[in-house]
This record gives sequence, structure tokens and C-alpha cells, in this order.
Amino acid sequence: MKIRGILLLIGCVFLGVVGANATQWGALHDYVDESTPANTGKKYLLRKVLNGESLSVGLLRDSAYAEEHYDELSRMIAKFYDDWFFNAAEWIEKSGREDEFADILPILREGIRVRISEEGNDVNFTFTTLKDVQWKCGSSYSGGCLDLKSPIFHIYLPYNISFLQKIISLGRDNKQRLSRHEIGHTLGLSDQYVTARSINSDPVYGSTEKRKAVMGSAKNLTCDDAEGIINLIDITRNKCRGGDRGWKTICPKSKEYYICGMSAGKGPYRIKISEDNGAVILNTYEKGKKVSSTVYPFATPQGDVDWEETPAVETLKSDVFGRPVKERGPKGEIIYYSYLWDRVERLSVQNNHAIDYVAQLRYTSKIHTGEMEKYKERFFGQRGVVCLLKMYVYHKGGYRGDYREGVNKPKVLRYIKRVYNRRRQLLEDVYEEPTQQQNGRNMSTKDIIAQGGINQRIGKQAKSAQRDRLSKKLDRWLERTLQELSR
Ligand SMILES: [Zn+2]
Repeated sequence: MKIRGILLLIGCVFLGVVGANATQWGALHDYVDESTPANTGKKYLLRKVLNGESLSVGLLRDSAYAEEHYDELSRMIAKFYDDWFFNAAEWIEKSGREDEFADILPILREGIRVRISEEGNDVNFTFTTLKDVQWKCGSSYSGGCLDLKSPIFHIYLPYNISFLQKIISLGRDNKQRLSRHEIGHTLGLSDQYVTARSINSDPVYGSTEKRKAVMGSAKNLTCDDAEGIINLIDITRNKCRGGDRGWKTICPKSKEYYICGMSAGKGPYRIKISEDNGAVILNTYEKGKKVSSTVYPFATPQGDVDWEETPAVETLKSDVFGRPVKERGPKGEIIYYSYLWDRVERLSVQNNHAIDYVAQLRYTSKIHTGEMEKYKERFFGQRGVVCLLKMYVYHKGGYRGDYREGVNKPKVLRYIKRVYNRRRQLLEDVYEEPTQQQNGRNMSTKDIIAQGGINQRIGKQAKSAQRDRLSKKLDRWLERTLQELSR
């Protein structure tokens, strides 16, 4: 998914995120490479620690604090790396189940060895002013971030947080909490607060319960963070603790159960669109392990189809929360579901072909800027190609719908965009049809945009029956989707 790719470049801690629904564990989306298990966690620092290496950590000097505080900050970073391991050891000891974790307890009790210098080879820290942090992190709402793009991780954190920011974060945020959180990212853990977990968590590895963690918005490391580290160690070593039967949570009041790092409460299916948008890949898991992977090319009927999803007439399988994971449609279609926090994916299949694929997301990390709040996309076959419908519902009201025809082709054949404000007035009306002959040659979308050709706004639109029909169809789909998303 493109949105994942874009938003994941930086793992942020946002100031003022309400974290009542924090959950305990999830690996970052690119932590596991299923096709090459040996590459699991390759980019992240936990693997190095498990190999017995110490981490080379850089602490850059900054004018935001006095020289004498440099040593204090170095000690803090070293301590917080240790704490991630010590916390896990303590919770295992508290549970009285030391035997079950005898393989990792000695490692956890030893902590994480770090060598701190003015420039590190694994990760660098900059403590600076909040203003500089927000500039570096590219968001005026960010309390700190980890830059995963550079070859060496770089963490930007505020040395001091203003009184106002303290109020916004309900007194929760300070450099200590933010450091613990970002250190968790460098090890390979994903965010666990509502607005980010659907986007940067691995779809397979993560828990299902809503609890508290530093990877959410808890102030200190919790039992849930301890389970995160245990599971992360296990998947990095490709180990199934407790064998096929898995292991029960060590956390008080939790009902979580893990099998090979995967929450037993998760349904058996994970769905993704192929790179070229021409097919859907359905992966099936049993006891935490992938047992099959099936590719369903999209059925691409020649004519127009209704923009309706395959309805379900019978539930064939449900998950522990009673949500459907497999259903049957009226014409014998089989419908599969995959859940990742606030993201729901649905695939319907018939005659070994994908009929439609839908992904729905209720939150994204842009909620803070008032941009996107809910999102839906739908892939389906029509006019001999794969088409894509998208809808964004904005936090401050208003919505946007896109239609793309031929997303499985090198160039999209037709593109429509309709933007409405909160009073449902049409603000933007874009139509591109790049295949028309002009000046004796085929025009690309780019050419047309460059010439200001068909890409027009309200008031100057070219009359076209096709355009009119498709725009109306898109509007009807948007109306239906808006109702569906507001339920
Ligand atoms: Zn984060």
C-alpha cells in the first residue's frame, strides 16, 4: 500500500495524543521479510544486540542545553536501552514463570550494551529545542521522531517541553518518555497509539488487546512493553515459544495468547495487492506460521459493472471477537477479511479470480493536522482493466473521491477527482482522459496537464456524456461510502 510506504519514513511521537486505547505490541511494518526469514529485523538494532554486539550510539552536542548536561543525557540513553530489557526480565520474574523464559532471561538481565560517543554507527540522538525538533520531524505536532531514511538512524527529541505542550500532552510528555519510545522503535517495535498503529505495524505480528505501553502513550515501560520485547526476540530468532500451542500472557488482567509471536486472537488471513495492482495475494496463517499464499488475478469484465461490493449471505468463520473472517456471497463467492487495528481489508473471490478488494481505515496519522480521518479504497475489474476508487473523509469535514481506470497499466487510462466541502458543495472537479488523439499522437496525462487541456475546474468543464455518467456514479459511491464510514 502506498500510504504505508509514505507515512512510514519517520516514526513519530505526537504530542497530545490521547492514549486510552493503547495496545501492547506490534513489530514495525518492515521488520519481517516473510520471503527471507533470515532477513527478519535486519534494519533494526535488536538483532545486533542478540548477536552479542554492543550498539554504537551517538549523542550530538546542541546549544539547546548547557555543556554540563551532556554526560547526564548519555547516562540516560544508556540506562533507557538497558531498561527495555530489564523491564522484560522483571515482569517474567513477577509472573513466577522463569523456567518458561529460561532461554532469554540471562540476556534480558544483562541489559543492552551501548557505547556512546559524539557520533554513532547505529543511531544518533539530537536533543534540541522543540521548535527545531518539529522542523526536523516535519510536523508542528510532533514531540520527537526517528528518521529511518538515513543509513544510520537519527532521533530528534526536545530537551525541554514548553508549558503549553505539557498541557496538550496531559503532562505525559517529557524527554524521558519520548526517549524510551523512540528507543523502542530503533529496536523494531511499532507505534501503538490509535492514529499510527494501523499504518506502521506489521500486519501479522501484533497483539489484539487494548492495553497500555510506552509504544502507545504510557509514561513508563509496562508489562505490555515487556511482552513486545519477548515477542520481538522470538520472531527475530525465528523461535516459537511454547511450540504450536504458544504461550499465555505474563501480564495481569490480560487474556492475550501468543503463538510464534502472533496474537492467537488474530484471524488467519492477511491480504495484499500485488506490486502491479493486477492481483490480490491472500496469505493464510495457522498457529502463527504462514501455511499458504494464493494469488488471485482480478477478473476484468469488458463492460461496465455496478460499483457494489459482494454482499455476504453466510458467515463461514469468525475470529475471537466475533468478527467475520470468511463469508460466502450469493453467487458462491468467498469473502476473506483481515484486521489490523483500525484497518479492515476485505477480498471477494470467485472462480480463482479477485472480484473486489476493499481496504478501510478509520484513522491515519494526519488526524492532527485536520486532514484525513477516514479512508476507503476499492479495487475491481471493469472495461477490461483494474479500476481503483478512493475516498478520504477529512477530520474537519468535507471529503474527496478519486476514480482511476487501468491502475494495472503503465499509465492510468482515466482519472476523476471530486472534492466536496463540509456543506457538500463541489470544490474541485477534475477529469483526465489521456488516450484521445490530438495532433496525430496519443497524449499522456502529463501532456494534457501541461497544456491545461482536459484537466479543468468547475465552470469550464468540457461537456462529455462519459464524463457526466462516471462523475455521477462516483458521487453515488461517495454518498454510500460516507454513510458507511460514519456508522
Ligand atoms: Zn512512535
